[in-house]
Amino acid sequence: MKVTFLGTGTSHGIPVIGCHCDVCMSGNPRDKRYRSAIMVEENGSRIVVDTGYEFRLQMLREGVDNVDAVLYTHSHSDHLSGIDDLRVFSQKRNMTIYSNRPTLEYIEKHYSYAFDTHGFPGTPHLSAVELEPLKEVEIAGIRVMPLPVEHGRVTHMPIYGYRFGSFAYITDCTFIADEVYEALRGVETLAIGALRGRVHGAHFSFEEAHEAGRRIGARRIYFTHINHETCYDEIDSLYDDAWSAYDGLKLEVN
Ligand SMILES: [Zn+2]
Ligand SMILES: [Zn+2]
Repeated sequence: MKVTFLGTGTSHGIPVIGCHCDVCMSGNPRDKRYRSAIMVEENGSRIVVDTGYEFRLQMLREGVDNVDAVLYTHSHSDHLSGIDDLRVFSQKRNMTIYSNRPTLEYIEKHYSYAFDTHGFPGTPHLSAVELEPLKEVEIAGIRVMPLPVEHGRVTHMPIYGYRFGSFAYITDCTFIADEVYEALRGVETLAIGALRGRVHGAHFSFEEAHEAGRRIGARRIYFTHINHETCYDEIDSLYDDAWSAYDGLKLEVN
């Protein structure tokens, strides 16, 4: 299975508009980060997790001409706002999007035209299917297990990470319950949201994300959903078993 990091930045992306800090001004291409998303490919099937603002640019950069399904982590707009560009992939047949109930309810309300079979033909044509937490399903021939985690130390927003075999993708997380750690047993490669060095109300810090990865027992930990306080080189040198993901990074996992 091939995993591609489509984007690895937090909600602002890097560079931040109008910001002249060292990271936003960096000449290192790995310090340019689109909003976070990944693409998973196996046996000719292709699943995308999240469609942020740069979804179109991400698809063009990776030369993608077909997507079979989209999994959403949650409904925040940095993970969702590129949804209109799914129109290209859903003209001939409906595309199914998957997530938890609150996320799908938000999407069906705010993008109702994409679910209207008698609407304007130029819109995306989507169907929504709710996934049960921790229940593995097969989507386009790829085994997926939704991982319920919390986004926000006060809000406790229920969102999904996803496990694909020995790889798991968890972003925008502040709490992972014991039963989810149990379900993550055997994960060797972990992509996990790590906003910055300092603690934040809605995201793990590098240290918290690394600690979660250690508890899971992952051999390779990749930080994603990163903000402009720390440059690629600095993040990459923080730990021996954890690295900074970067836009376009591809991993072979099984
Ligand atoms: Zn986010
Ligand atoms: Zn979020």
